[in-house]
Amino acid sequence: MNRNIINGLKAFVQDKASSLTGLHISWFGGEPLISLDVIEELSESFLAIAKENQIQYSCDLVTNGYLLTTEVFERLISWNINQFMITIDGIGEVHDRRRHLTGGGKTFDKILDNLMAIKDVPGSFNVTIRTNFDEDNLQATSELIRFLKDHFADDERFGIMFRPVGQWGGKNDDDIPVCSRTMANQKIWELSDEAITQGFSMSSMITDSLMPSASVCYSAKPHSLVVGSDGQLYKCTLSLNEEFNKVGKIHEDGNLELDYDKIANWVTSGEETDTGCQSCFYRPACQGNHCPLYRMRTGERPCPYEKRNIKKVLNLIWKNNNK
Ligand code: SF4
Repeated sequence: MNRNIINGLKAFVQDKASSLTGLHISWFGGEPLISLDVIEELSESFLAIAKENQIQYSCDLVTNGYLLTTEVFERLISWNINQFMITIDGIGEVHDRRRHLTGGGKTFDKILDNLMAIKDVPGSFNVTIRTNFDEDNLQATSELIRFLKDHFADDERFGIMFRPVGQWGGKNDDDIPVCSRTMANQKIWELSDEAITQGFSMSSMITDSLMPSASVCYSAKPHSLVVGSDGQLYKCTLSLNEEFNKVGKIHEDGNLELDYDKIANWVTSGEETDTGCQSCFYRPACQGNHCPLYRMRTGERPCPYEKRNIKKVLNLIWKNNNK
């Protein structure tokens, strides 16, 4: 991230501080821990501003876990970053084949060592281990669940969630062996059930997503922005190359240049006129805005996985809480 964008972000938050009651930062990107110095500088600035203005400040971080040593982890915790999502797609070679270094090097052993070491860090934090599945690694997922259970089931701060790999655009889309929609909807909860049965906690993100407005996508929220390292502002973290998602720029003095017509497409993406959503039992959580991008691209309702299988999900939450 350029110096002028870092300055711009600090100035922006300072400028808005007196009108804020809460500020949530999601550290997310190609790999955010590559720029730990930027996270440090911005965190220290945001923490000071939050303290001075009595703003509730919270953070999460999505990382591949490769650089997440105990020392880095403890620094992140000191900056209020205490919700983590780390993807593990299989044991050893299965993971390494899918999530390797740029030059092809292995990553699994190092990520596992990092996660095991984090267990010794005292205090309150939450690590969601996310497993993305498709036809390629699905068969190996039961073995992965047993493996993760042996390593993490004894620590309640670790939970697991499963998500199907999707085709979200890009030149390799057709080569991805995605599961069919029906199969994906079924497997998410079958695998979760298997993990809970083995004694591993389901990620708290699943239970939390049932709360009022908790399944509304950040892109649908008027005051949520994605800040690119070059200062480009977006609403969505997926469609980064599409013009309709490039909604503005941040300047060094903290001023934002925003295209409100583009933003309106994300925050009023269809639920207002969708009678199906208006009579839906899940509307308090999703508000028809679980994924504005999906609705824009397909014209269909973006119902969350939890809603599509709500009875099973409620059973799993009960089972998870009583295991
Ligand atoms: S769950 Fe589906 S039908 Fe219900 S409000 Fe959300 S998008 Fe609309």
